[in-house]
Amino acid sequence: MQKKLSWVIVGTIFISFMLLMVILAFSIRGLGIKNAEEKAQIIADLVQDGLSAHMLSGTMDQREFFLKKISTAKGVEALWVVRSESVIKQFGKGFNNEIARDKIDEVTLNTGVVHKQNEESSHSAKLRITTPYVAKEHGSPNCMQCHHAKEGEVLGAISIVFDIGEVRTNGILTSLGILLLSIFIMLFVFIIINRSMQPLMELFNSITFVMNKAQEGDYSRRVRFSGHDKECHNVMFWINSLLDKLENTLNDIEVTVKKFLALSPNHQPDLLLDAQAIVHELSDIYQFKRTIEFDEDKEQVYRRIGSILQHDLGLKDFVLIESGKEAINPTIVFDAATHKRTVDPTCRALRTKQAVYSDQFKNICESCDSCAHHLCIPYLISSDFELLLSIWTQTPEELEHTKEQLPKIQNYIDAARPELVSKNLTEILKVSSTTDALTGLYNRKYLDEYIEKALSQAKRNGIKYGILMIDIDFFKMVNDTYGHDVGDKAIKVLARILKDNIREADTAFRFGGEEFLVLLYECEEEMVTHIAEKIRLAFEKAAIQSNNGATFYKTLSVGASIFPIDSDSLWKCIKFADIALYNAKDNGRNCVKRFDGSMVESQELKNDF
Ligand code: GH3
Ligand code: MG
Ligand code: MG
Repeated sequence: MQKKLSWVIVGTIFISFMLLMVILAFSIRGLGIKNAEEKAQIIADLVQDGLSAHMLSGTMDQREFFLKKISTAKGVEALWVVRSESVIKQFGKGFNNEIARDKIDEVTLNTGVVHKQNEESSHSAKLRITTPYVAKEHGSPNCMQCHHAKEGEVLGAISIVFDIGEVRTNGILTSLGILLLSIFIMLFVFIIINRSMQPLMELFNSITFVMNKAQEGDYSRRVRFSGHDKECHNVMFWINSLLDKLENTLNDIEVTVKKFLALSPNHQPDLLLDAQAIVHELSDIYQFKRTIEFDEDKEQVYRRIGSILQHDLGLKDFVLIESGKEAINPTIVFDAATHKRTVDPTCRALRTKQAVYSDQFKNICESCDSCAHHLCIPYLISSDFELLLSIWTQTPEELEHTKEQLPKIQNYIDAARPELVSKNLTEILKVSSTTDALTGLYNRKYLDEYIEKALSQAKRNGIKYGILMIDIDFFKMVNDTYGHDVGDKAIKVLARILKDNIREADTAFRFGGEEFLVLLYECEEEMVTHIAEKIRLAFEKAAIQSNNGATFYKTLSVGASIFPIDSDSLWKCIKFADIALYNAKDNGRNCVKRFDGSMVESQELKNDF
């Protein structure tokens, strides 16, 4: 760089000097020629005047001496005078045969125009000037006094040959002198430039190196300068301070963010790009957190997490499973699996609470038959509530790529954790307020909410409900004989039997004490009594444990009605089922009674509802 700059400057100076030299050489030559021309004019005038004087004084025969003397003037190499035809006619050719010697003489005599000719060769340079003498009537001496000529007629001409070789030599010598001077100046400039540029170049090279490294993401290099130039030191100090700040800030961002954000092990090679990626991730997570705060329930949050895993992190085949102690059975809460997946209760990750990677050990998940490349990561949400992310990939490379996404996934789950905990608690509270603690069945409170929803839906879609009102026979005796706790056991046994004998769409409620209500969804006439009978028989055969190890059996009675066949009011149908239950009790218990109008007076019905 430094050499290049020096050569540019020196080259420019050299070319300028060369140009100057050529201009100067031409100027000197031009001046020489101009000088010779002026000299020629003076000599021509002098000769004319001299010849006129000789003529007037009648000493023309002595003009030879005069002309010779003049031709010895400095720089004059040759001089001759020629006569025109009219002068030759009047006075003869002259003693020296003064007739036109060459073409130039002839042309000048004919035209009356001054003729100049340059003859230059490598060893000589000559300038010939031929000047005509033109006749003039006026002035002194008057030409017409001696010549028989007309005004303007050419009487003769004088040719003078000058040697301008000296002028040319002077020009060349001057140019050479300038050339030598320019070479000397150039050398001087070259040395000065090198000397003064060296520290600048050292700084420049160091800055180039440091900036190159920074461009590659390495901000640890610093500019070095060993010279004494104060300004260079300042520049070095400013750049290094800036790099210090940049490096410290970027490292600080990483260290600070690491405290609350899991960072990918595959960092960007550039700290600045790394910081940019971190800021983007933080912003995404913040947005996500703000969004789920206003989500209605856990399911909505799960859908959002699932969508991020699918669309932002590119997972293709995965399920999100919710699991917890006792109450929460492992359930798929977001399904993006390419095959039908079911929750494996013996799942290793669920059992051990440790992440399971298929590349850790061959067939690590014995229960998983299509898990060549998969990973299962458990995320603890609260002490009794966790999420499990099961991911399947096509290739080991894809599995590796998925592993790299795990810190990001962890960040989203961490961000969602408080919301999931609070939404889970809200749901638990809601369930517990509508669920009977002893049996796990819905309570009376929930029945009120349920009836309202079910009724509008049933009316809209013409759905039938079978209604069973169930009561244990002589239950008081159980309490009296075995104690209250054994009575509770009997109630639980009946609750279990109810759950086992109804479909998922059906709903069982603990109506009060040892009395239960079952709503059978979309149930035909004959099925209602059939299910009731099934329940009755199952309970009859169910052994109930007393405290002393002995078992005993109990029976129950059932009253059945059908909505909207018996009434278009669901509450009225429940009342009818209750009436049928009383009818069963009255008819010897341990039986099922289908409600019919004869069980009550119609007036009584009207009064009740
Ligand atoms: P019936 O055949 O006519 O139904 O005779 P019963 O003895 O079952 O009579 P009733 O239905 O009036 O008696 C209900 C008894 O159930 C009264 C109460 O002590 C008892 N009971 C109600 N709730 C509970 C409970 O949660 N646990 C226990 N152990 N007993 C309960
Ligand atoms: Mg009873
Ligand atoms: Mg009762």
